[in-house]
Amino acid sequence: MIPLIDETVCTGCGRCTEVCPPGALYLKEEKVCIAGDLCEECGFCAPECPVEAINIPFPNKE
Ligand code: SF4
Ligand code: SF4
Repeated sequence: MIPLIDETVCTGCGRCTEVCPPGALYLKEEKVCIAGDLCEECGFCAPECPVEAINIPFPNKE
């Protein structure tokens, strides 16, 4: 699943952009944006965020 980003929480630190293999994450006006068509759904970005602004929905989680 493509990650969901809570822009109200994001501080614009840029850490997630550095770990995204295809470069799907980018900063715009100090908030992170995601280019959903580039995302490979690897999940690397979510644990990298210090303020837990990135959440990956797991539809099969029971
Ligand atoms: S899930 Fe992977 S490819 Fe998608 S935005 Fe996060 S780090 Fe990038
Ligand atoms: S790691 Fe978290 S706080 Fe930093 S830019 Fe990415 S989403 Fe925003």
